[in-house]
Amino acid sequence: MSLSQPREPEQPVLLLEAPPLAARAPQFPAADVDRLRALVHGPVYGAGDDGLAAEVATWNVAVQHTPAIAVGATCAADVAAAVSWAVGHGLGVAVQATGHGPVRDAAGSLLITTRRMRGLSVDPGRRTARVEAGVTWKRVLEAAAEFGLTGLCGSSSGVGVVGYTLGGGLGPLGRRYGFAADHVRAVEIVTADGRLRSLSAESEPELFWAVRGGKGNLGVVTALEIELVPVSGVHAGSIFFAAEDMAEVLHAFRRWVPTLPEEVGTSVAIMRLPDLEFLPPPLRGRTALHLRYAYCGEEPGEGERLLAPMQDAGEVIAGFSGAIGTDEMDSIHMDPVDPMPGWEKGQLLTGLTAEGVEALLAVAGPQAQIPLTMVELRLMGGALARQAAVPNAVAGRDGAFSMLVLGPAVPELAEVVPAVGRGVLDALAPWKAPGAMINFLGDVSGPEEVAAAYPPGVAARLAEVKAAVDPDRVFSFGHAV
Ligand SMILES: Cc1cc2nc3c(=O)[nH]c(=O)nc-3n(C[C@H](O)[C@H](O)[C@H](O)COP(=O)(O)OP(=O)(O)OC[C@H]3O[C@@H](n4cnc5c(N)ncnc54)[C@H](O)[C@@H]3O)c2cc1C
Repeated sequence: MSLSQPREPEQPVLLLEAPPLAARAPQFPAADVDRLRALVHGPVYGAGDDGLAAEVATWNVAVQHTPAIAVGATCAADVAAAVSWAVGHGLGVAVQATGHGPVRDAAGSLLITTRRMRGLSVDPGRRTARVEAGVTWKRVLEAAAEFGLTGLCGSSSGVGVVGYTLGGGLGPLGRRYGFAADHVRAVEIVTADGRLRSLSAESEPELFWAVRGGKGNLGVVTALEIELVPVSGVHAGSIFFAAEDMAEVLHAFRRWVPTLPEEVGTSVAIMRLPDLEFLPPPLRGRTALHLRYAYCGEEPGEGERLLAPMQDAGEVIAGFSGAIGTDEMDSIHMDPVDPMPGWEKGQLLTGLTAEGVEALLAVAGPQAQIPLTMVELRLMGGALARQAAVPNAVAGRDGAFSMLVLGPAVPELAEVVPAVGRGVLDALAPWKAPGAMINFLGDVSGPEEVAAAYPPGVAARLAEVKAAVDPDRVFSFGHAV
């Protein structure tokens, strides 16, 4: 079926799960693996080879990949060769850059690791960057900052640009500029037929629409051309309030956010912090409310003025506020840098009412004995709620807030953390908005839940594009569709 043909009425709109890989019974002689080695420039590891575990190691160590083959791609040609080899041998294809977002073990797959694909160039005149698949946000922020520009990074610059952007990409500048995916000009992608395609608004527009928001299930993206925005610094805040004042500060936050312009990105998180040395002493082992703030407007003094009502909303136990460069944005959220095992789940909220704050406090306030490291509410709206100049498949535009719960994925708490996490989300169910953000879907029950993250028309259109470019569901890892 061509991408431009209308969908047949009887075609299913739900995105179907791939058959279990065991059912695909991958079998291949060792000589074929040697042929693959000769085809690619990067290393190739078979099951049982020394170095396989290190090659496929995740950042979120809750998931450990056990692929049949891993290919350390160095270039688009390596990716194309690996995809063609996998398809020829009946293997599904998975892809990993940093391992910040694995959904499940890519068992039995051919897993392409992209971290050697480090090409990055900034064109200050066009305000764009070409970013290869293995590049993290840190390098983009640093390179763009030299020209007074920045990219639409999220809370942590250790995350990969491509994986983050394909899932939407919500960051502190999002209310002003929209999702990262809204600022993709061109995509280079290897599809299941082994072809390297160049996508843009003019070239294969339907696939270009789908891949920006459709995450990893349409192919392996080898590079993106992204737009940079003219922001060199922000007035930032990263302020921890004492647990005793949590209720007061949360209500102040609720009253404050409707007064904010789109130039402000902000969130709050109820943190139960571990007693670990990487944290400042006042935060170790404490429960606290973390306010995150970034003003990216040009009005002098405005960032400080807008933040002022929150600064004395409660007792401050740690943190800072002030001007920072865009290459220092990690200091706002203070996400962990080292690998860790995490279980997470997100949903969207229609708003934050006084009753909503009380419901949240009842289940996650300081008195609650719960094993969740973080319960976060990010303010959305502004440009995030508007379709991109070149429309795309990004899910999650209908939320007024993004809510995310995160806990340790350790064997002792394997059942408790998901049960408690879902309970905290359910407590806010009266304010749940339709859909979800793909990057914050976390643990999913199955393909119906992934499809339900998208508005129905988008899910149907995405399924149609997927059926056209990947009819055998070669790309079925991750939880895009
Ligand atoms: C600490 C932390 C902070 C985060 N902060 C934010 C945030 O502020 N905003 C936000 O929106 N998200 C955020 N995320 C979620 C993050 O954007 C996703 O987990 C994203 O998928 C990570 O991409 P990665 O390449 O780093 O991870 P990986 O685990 O390497 O990749 C995850 C998935 O991305 C897809 N993918 C990666 N590379 C490719 C490729 N070349 N081609 C096709 N598909 C690909 C695949 O589906 C893959 O399974 C955060 C995650 C963490 C752990």
